[in-house]
Amino acid sequence: MARMYGDRAAVVDGDRVLSYDELDVETGRVAAALRASGVDYLDVVLLHLANSIEFVVAYYGSLRAGATVTLVNPLQPVPGLRAQLAETGAVAAFTGAEQLDRLLDAAGETRLLAVVLAEPDAPSAPAGVVTLAEFTAGHSVAPATSVTSADVAHLAFTGGTTGVSKGVQVLHRNVIGNVTQMVGWRAGHAVIEGDDGYVQLRSRGGESRGVVPGDAATVVVSPLFHAHALINMSFLLLCGATQVLAGRFDPAKMLGLIERHHATYITGSPAMWHALATHPDVGSRDLSSVRVVSSGAAPIDRVTLELLQAAFPSGAVVEGYGLTEATCLVSSAPLTSDGDYRLGSVGLPTFDTAIEIRSVDDPHTVLSAGERGELWVRGPQVTAGYLGHPEITAAQYLDGWLDTGDIAYRDDDGYLYICDRAKDMLIYKGYNVYPRELEEILVTHPDVASAAVVGREAGSVGQEPVAFIVPKDGHVVDEELVRGFVAEQVLPYKKIRDVIVVDSLPTSAAGKIQKVALRGRLAPTAR
Ligand code: ATP
Repeated sequence: MARMYGDRAAVVDGDRVLSYDELDVETGRVAAALRASGVDYLDVVLLHLANSIEFVVAYYGSLRAGATVTLVNPLQPVPGLRAQLAETGAVAAFTGAEQLDRLLDAAGETRLLAVVLAEPDAPSAPAGVVTLAEFTAGHSVAPATSVTSADVAHLAFTGGTTGVSKGVQVLHRNVIGNVTQMVGWRAGHAVIEGDDGYVQLRSRGGESRGVVPGDAATVVVSPLFHAHALINMSFLLLCGATQVLAGRFDPAKMLGLIERHHATYITGSPAMWHALATHPDVGSRDLSSVRVVSSGAAPIDRVTLELLQAAFPSGAVVEGYGLTEATCLVSSAPLTSDGDYRLGSVGLPTFDTAIEIRSVDDPHTVLSAGERGELWVRGPQVTAGYLGHPEITAAQYLDGWLDTGDIAYRDDDGYLYICDRAKDMLIYKGYNVYPRELEEILVTHPDVASAAVVGREAGSVGQEPVAFIVPKDGHVVDEELVRGFVAEQVLPYKKIRDVIVVDSLPTSAAGKIQKVALRGRLAPTAR
């Protein structure tokens, strides 16, 4: 694949550029070095790296060696890291200077065959560790090790937003299936054609809003260790796009990079988009190259969507939906210029994907259009379940269908709307309350910048909604007025019982609000 795009830039990381040809060579050398150091077919390699050229090279190099990759947030504290090493049985690791000590501490007695310090300028490494340059020295491109489509490509650990982080076994066929779906969907009018054994994308003409070979650049701020950015990376490389790695999210820096690299396609999470769209630099940057702004990972509210559309008038602002258990993408709004975009919807399922809305109480009862229930998905992207958790896997994966754990409904034309996570839904006096509906209302209040609603245990009545509010800069939130503002717009059982003003909401690396942490701040009330 990499050879097809030759000397085009595949990855830009600060001042460094990796061309597609170099990507091919470097991944081949990493594969050869891994095999030489004893890493065998389906052995597990840990990627303990921040977004960087080294991450990209280590990921594809490990896959080329026939290994299974496991990904981890480089900031992961030692106990979590130790658990992941033990759970996955990793035999080699790529790490960075900032996190090396933590890795060595976590590795303890485990016998990693190789610990590679994958830093661009590392002159040397401590005993027992090699730099990437040392590791690959003397190796030329290894022939790719054959794998089967049923082998595990990577073990992606879920964000743990709702509890314990679990390792999802993503097979090669899941990655290929989902990336192909993304190409078909997100490439707009482009088609896939076999040519001399290569997969190619050709534009059919017309106005494509998607990614087409050669002209696309994207600025990546989401962490590559998370399913969303990781699978997007394979999709974009297949399209011949240039990925500009922006490091940790900084709205001013990101806006500058979009302008400088003429980015056409940008993806991110709602929290990120809110910060970007409200940043003062929006007005002074030329953002007219942007054709697609895609939001995913968590629900985006309408206010942020409108701000985003105003910030990127040349771009189609679309929402996609997916989850690690389905590799990455399940549904997305249409990208073509004549696409029917429906506000609040996460679009239509990608091709070859079946979805059903089933009763929360009975997973064998399929509900009709307009009815809310649990969203189930079937398709080539549905993964093989959780490593080491057969019971949870059996409960969530049924006859080829995956229970997403999200409450959703479809309209008469099949467009999908996500109401909330089943785990975040509150039951108050027997009524279902969707925090997302209340959050949507809260952010329309003139003093509110962002909001998160969680349930507080309230004895016999169930859980009552409590709102955490971040005020807009320079505004003061009057808690009583905000409660009244919501009460005027909802049925009585949905009323917000308390408003708590905070400076910021806790978010995960993938940009999701961590509701478990917010719930932990609430003391139960008795009623
Ligand atoms: P864990 O599964 O461990 O709790 P996590 O939920 O963060 O962690 P992910 O796979 O990253 O793991 O998240 C997938 C979830 O993100 C979906 O099930 C859904 O709840 C939410 N999500 C993703 N995209 C959207 C969207 N566009 N709108 C609403 N929710 C979304």
